Amino acid sequence: MKSISIKNLKEHFDEEVVVSGFVDNIRNLQWVQFVIIRDNESKVQVTIEKSEEKNKEMVELIENLPLESTVKITGKLVESPKVKLNGMEIIPETIEVTSKSLEELPFNFKDLDNVNIDTRLDYRFIDLRNEKNTLIFQIQSELTKYMREYLYNNEFTEIHTPKLIGAASESGSEVFEVKYFDRKAYLAQSPQFYKQMAMSAGLNRIFEVAPVFRAENSNTSRHATEFTGFDVEFSYIDSYEDVMNLEAELITYAFEKISDKYKDKIKEVFGMDLVVPKLPFPKMKLADIYKELEERYGYKVEESEKTDLTTEAEKLCYKLSKDMFDHEFLLVTDYPADKRAFYHMRDENGVLLGYDLLWRGVEITSGAQRENRYDELVKNAEEKGLKDDVKFYLEFFKYGCPPHGGFGIGLDRLTMLLLGIPSVKETEFLFRGPNRLNP
Ligand code: ATP
Repeated sequence: MKSISIKNLKEHFDEEVVVSGFVDNIRNLQWVQFVIIRDNESKVQVTIEKSEEKNKEMVELIENLPLESTVKITGKLVESPKVKLNGMEIIPETIEVTSKSLEELPFNFKDLDNVNIDTRLDYRFIDLRNEKNTLIFQIQSELTKYMREYLYNNEFTEIHTPKLIGAASESGSEVFEVKYFDRKAYLAQSPQFYKQMAMSAGLNRIFEVAPVFRAENSNTSRHATEFTGFDVEFSYIDSYEDVMNLEAELITYAFEKISDKYKDKIKEVFGMDLVVPKLPFPKMKLADIYKELEERYGYKVEESEKTDLTTEAEKLCYKLSKDMFDHEFLLVTDYPADKRAFYHMRDENGVLLGYDLLWRGVEITSGAQRENRYDELVKNAEEKGLKDDVKFYLEFFKYGCPPHGGFGIGLDRLTMLLLGIPSVKETEFLFRGPNRLNP
């Protein structure tokens, strides 16, 4: 017989069932033993009467069994309203120990409030046994599923681009260098060039969910040296408005689905209200944001800093967007192009035809229409002092390449904001930062 997920047990009252999981707790009383079994989503009580002769071996086994060992239980499932845990219990026939926990746990994963984050990450496999932590990844998985689903429904193709690349390129973000036989290679800081190659190849609408590497020594709550990028690119757009609109629809679609399934759970476990955003998302020009921030909240910065949003301004944008538009998201447009990557299209005044999307005061995306005209692109690359490293990329635009645009969402950041988690350290399965490469 196959094991059943504990959450599905209620369909099997009065049947013989098999359940596998960790030994979560044991209460060894005078006449009875209560053993709580836990799988990734739920728990069930196993009740062993000590007085019954046939239980003798089982009773002894449980007496010597360390918590967090794993077991496979075969027995009869009975409805028992007196049992607090889901009103049911298993009366076991056999208990097989499938692995024994050999040492005392390094910390109590059921109460993480006072456990240092580094200790938690050192023992991430134990940290993740915490119910709340398990839930983070279940929700992240479904969020990705629905984001993918939206794109599949809209005729996108999922592609897989290389992460080992031959030239350190792009926008100036630092890249990791790796030894590649007798030469150097680099880890991709984004799939940007290859997403655009797909446009040149006529693939039309593509996306990728994959690792992104950044050799940036930033120790903030929202930066990792490796994270998961959710990257989208599509052709025959009329302007970057099309890119913003598609992203807003994608997020709204996924949030609606997550809300249907997890709204109450997110409130109960994380204390966060999941608000399904209204379409269209509000948008503001960078310069207008600074004007409003000053007028409304007295926030001032030097003119020279106004070429991008400061971290503080980003935070204030949450309040601004709520006050002005009753919305949690804000699309920020009209960045000066010279601060941005050379492949973004700009208008005749040097204004970027692109945007950043902020949610709850943090940037979650950059997006833009891309420069698809070869001569313009070469000029922009040369202005940034890029030449040989982007030669292969410029080739993509020599033989016809449709107008296109796209965006990249940081999945770990999105999950962090969705669940109100303090740092991406907890929304990456295994965090990678300047001081962390293990386990
Ligand atoms: P930031 O200014 O916050 O460092 P960025 O401008 O370098 O971000 P992009 O290169 O536009 O970011 O990357 C697209 C998205 O990927 C960002 O909006 C963000 O959600 C996510 N992202 C970028 N860098 C990181 C990082 N180091 N760790 C986690 N997520 C990141």
